[in-house]
Amino acid sequence: MSEDLFEKIIAREIPAEIVYETETVLAFRDINPQAPTHILIIPKEKIRTINDISDHQTGLIGELYLAARDIAKQAGFADEGYRVVMNCGEAAGQAVWHIHLHLLAGRALTWPPG
Ligand code: 5GP
Repeated sequence: MSEDLFEKIIAREIPAEIVYETETVLAFRDINPQAPTHILIIPKEKIRTINDISDHQTGLIGELYLAARDIAKQAGFADEGYRVVMNCGEAAGQAVWHIHLHLLAGRALTWPPG
């Protein structure tokens, strides 16, 4: 059995609304959306936090951003604007220990975030 929640989603052991998939990346809608569009973009390879990213994984990390770009273009909010953010560690609010970009769009997003 897979050990973390997102590994279970990758393995289709628990359901998710998948919106994008490549050999290395998966994106699906957040179960508790914080904006009209809230998508999580994850590497299929497990990396616990930003602190655990290896130097050889720059390509994979770049692919997460290319996924955000492509999803934004396809969904039609690329020009309007959107936010891409990754929490690292408990103080930043990370709750799932498998890195994920949050892609948020569809409303005015304030800065700084809380
Ligand atoms: P974090 O707080 O770690 O940056 O973000 C974790 C995100 O995962 C949260 O936005 C939360 O709503 C989302 N999440 C937690 N459990 C599930 C689930 O079972 N399915 C989906 N699609 N999202 C989840």
